[in-house]
Amino acid sequence: MANKQQQGNIHLPLGDQRTARFYGNDILSVKQFSKEDLVYIFEVAHEMREMVSRIGTFDLLKGKILANLFYEPSTRTSSSFTSAMERLGGSVIPINEVRYSSVSKGESLPDTIRTLECYADVIVLRHPEVGASALAAKYARKPVLNAGDGVGEHPTQALLDLFTILAELGTAENLTVTMLGDLKYGRTVHSLSRLLSLFNVTLRYVSPEILRLPQEIIDEINQKGIIQTEHTSLHEILPETDVLYVTRVQKERFENPADYDSVKDAYVITPEIMQQAKEKMIVMHPLPRVGEISMDFDDDPRAAYFRQMEYGLYVRMALLAMVLGKAKK
Ligand code: ASP
Repeated sequence: MANKQQQGNIHLPLGDQRTARFYGNDILSVKQFSKEDLVYIFEVAHEMREMVSRIGTFDLLKGKILANLFYEPSTRTSSSFTSAMERLGGSVIPINEVRYSSVSKGESLPDTIRTLECYADVIVLRHPEVGASALAAKYARKPVLNAGDGVGEHPTQALLDLFTILAELGTAENLTVTMLGDLKYGRTVHSLSRLLSLFNVTLRYVSPEILRLPQEIIDEINQKGIIQTEHTSLHEILPETDVLYVTRVQKERFENPADYDSVKDAYVITPEIMQQAKEKMIVMHPLPRVGEISMDFDDDPRAAYFRQMEYGLYVRMALLAMVLGKAKK
């Protein structure tokens, strides 16, 4: 099947078959990745890490342009994609405030995408609606990277989360991963739980009753034979946990503010609580945090959430190089 770049008659040198799997293609959901793909992405991300530490910025994507189109707020995703593109020698069209673009005049997403692809080689899109990236990708000839589609998925975050687990703990096999907080609206959890189901993991879900992980995701993961259990208290689960993945209660997704108020302070990770946890384990968070991890815990070596942000740069550099056909095997 011809990929998007070939359809557009652009020919770049390709490496082996693994590069061809990504070259010119969209990244819309973690469901598209095999374990083999992950090995390749992380090999490239590892190389990016080495290159950044050795020389900082280099010319792999010189002359390439990224359109960074954000219809929802972002700090890390937007700036790490910008940094990734610039560290690879490319440049960025930033549209962080769609209020000031033609979107505020009522332009449709397909038309905005058709416009940006005239000027850019790759489009990163964050949008409040589930499926918006898939819709954009349908109209785009250039690769579209889903940077969060409402309560749907956040695949590049899940990749960097998994890269963090591998870098910090050496493996994803035989781990107990506990996801805590807003599992209903948290798109990072939706993507990460699916991605982890490629490995032999045990998944524990801890949330208030009204914020449980959607049943369709549980069913999907069940089909892979993964052990999953649901809880309202962290207490019984924490001692066996290897990765504690904490999330923010997604205030902006609630229809009723009273519901938000009833669950917003459901869990707070403190140094005292973490005394029950293993010595060798990690605490992750996609960030921003709004009180669910006490700042008193930040200096604990198990607090991996700031390192996690840095890993995101290398993974996003890898993805850009791969979809633009410039990553070697
Ligand atoms: N930054 C993450 C996201 O965009 C997590 C969050 O906002 O709570 O999904």
